[in-house]
This record gives sequence, structure tokens and C-alpha cells, in this order.
Amino acid sequence: MAHSNISIFVPHIGCPHMCAFCNQRTITGTEEIPRGGDVKRVCAKALQEIKKPAEAEIAFFGGSFTAVPREYMLELLESAQDFIGDGKFKGIRISTRPDYIDDEVLKILKTYGVTSIELGAQSMVDRVLEANERGHTVLDVANAVKLIKSYGCFELGLQMMVGLYKSTPDDEKTTWNRIAELSPDTVRIYPVVILEDTKLGDLFKSGEYKPVDFETVVDLCTDFLTDAEKRNINVIKLGLHASEVVESQMLGGFYHPAFRELCEGRRYRREFEKEIGKHGSNIKYAEFLVPERNISKAYGQKKRNAEYFRNLGIRLKISSDKNLTERYITVNIR
Ligand code: SF4
Repeated sequence: MAHSNISIFVPHIGCPHMCAFCNQRTITGTEEIPRGGDVKRVCAKALQEIKKPAEAEIAFFGGSFTAVPREYMLELLESAQDFIGDGKFKGIRISTRPDYIDDEVLKILKTYGVTSIELGAQSMVDRVLEANERGHTVLDVANAVKLIKSYGCFELGLQMMVGLYKSTPDDEKTTWNRIAELSPDTVRIYPVVILEDTKLGDLFKSGEYKPVDFETVVDLCTDFLTDAEKRNINVIKLGLHASEVVESQMLGGFYHPAFRELCEGRRYRREFEKEIGKHGSNIKYAEFLVPERNISKAYGQKKRNAEYFRNLGIRLKISSDKNLTERYITVNIR
């Protein structure tokens, strides 16, 4: 599935809110406000470089696309028009706030060839949304989803954050379940990264915000990743993208440059553990076959799974087969 192929960041401009966790400039790594001419330049260059443009979208990210001043939003959409359809890019992807979606906005987006809309839900628990000063409610998310789906022409994405201020592991599960029940086509799951110059940063420094431990968040995200696959929801992002800016300005939270790999590895570890458990105690050796593309996931990031089982006295051996369609086959456990 095509997503965010030509990314243009629209940082914070005109955003009427100041969410407790947000310092958009740090996240996007840019202070520049793109203008129509910039969009044209980026698209023209990408059109030359991308092999299958018809599968790619021009993506305006930043989280509040439909909340920026209307003239500016139209300038950006207008400048992308020469680059969509007719053997060029498939369409336009935007990310925005759920409370800045209505019929008028959706008609504009449809007219300008927007193909995908991502909504920042962040939490599906009102108490957590309020504590993090999101400025919208769970009902706003549900209403926006319903309206977007009624158009029948947009791919729908939902974004959630894990580990927000005042959010318990039960709240995270509630958020995931409510998001999954809305049946988005895609989700992005962002474990919280606490940045300088944010309210969350101040709460963290004062000791008022005490994030849960890293392992709990990896476990929760592994649950969500596993459930998403069962429900046929495409997890297009898990963890903030690796960035030097974020790394240098973060105060804490759940950043890891390969967060998704940690969760993919945890998922395999759980599966192997379950299989091994079926063979009673005193197991010394476990061998599994996995698809070739999954071998590093099966061993876990930096071979953590091999080490985990070694500490339990079990030697883990994994072989691969490029034609295997199952996640794994148990070869030998003894
Ligand atoms: S709505 Fe988005 S851009 Fe605006 S403050 Fe919140 S997270 Fe940042």
C-alpha cells in the first residue's frame, strides 16, 4: 500500500492548539514553512526519481493540515494539482485533527484529489485527552471517522500515542480497542517521546508525570501489532522515525530507533515461548523455520530472543525458507 511517499511537513503553522506533548518543530526537524513553490519543486524532483509514481501519494504531514489558515491550505493543495493523476502521483495524503473535519472541508479535499486522510486520535479516553490538552473528545474522533467514511473515496488512517500523561495500561488497551473498532485502513502507533519545550516536558521534570516502564510499552505495542494483523489493519508506523533532532532534544519517554523491530521480535518470542511451553519443562533446544524475510525479527533485535532463551537454558535455532507462508514452523523441540 502506498503511503507518505513524498513527504512535505507543514509544521504547526496556525495550529490553534498546544497539545501537552507537541513540539512539532522538533518532530519534523524543520523550522521552514513550505510554500506552493516548494511543493512544486519537491514533487517535480520526486516525479523524476520515483519508479512507480502512480502508487505514491504526495503527503502533507504535521498533524493539523485542515486547521491551518484556509488560504494556505488551498495554496498547498493547488500547487500539488499538476502532479497527480494521468500517470503522475496517485493522489494526496494529509494528516489532521478530528475536530477540523466537516462537510465543507471534506468537499474541498475531495475536489483537490486527496486520497487518504489520517486523524490524530492519540487517545480514546476523554480523561487522557483532557490531561494532555488535546482540545477534542473521543466523540469528535468517532464523528469525523463516520463522516470521512460516508464519502467512500478516502483511505482512513488513525494515529494513537502510547504512554501519555495520566494514561494507564488499561487506558491504552481501551484506546486500541476503540480505534480498531472504527476499522481504519491504516494506523500509526507512536509511543510517547517527551520533548523539551513542551508541557509534558515540564510535568516530567517536576516529577508529576511518571511514564510507565519501557518494557510495558513494548508489550502493549506488541499486543496492538498482533491484533491489527488479525483485523486486517495495516500498521504503517510503530515508533517515531529515527531522527537526530529528536534524539538530541528528548527528555525521556519511549524512543528507540528501531521500535517496531523490538515489537516484531517480542511477538516471535511470545510465539516460540508458547510452542516450547507445550513440550513441558526441561527443554534444552528449540528449532523453528521462518520465512526468510522474517529471520532477524525471529531472532529479535540484536539477537535478544536468542539471549532470552539462552538465559532460560534453551538453545534457540532458527532457519529460514523463502517460500514459507506461515509465520513459523516448529522443527524440533527437545
Ligand atoms: S494539534 Fe497537532 S500540531 Fe497542533 S499542537 Fe497538537 S499535536 Fe501539535
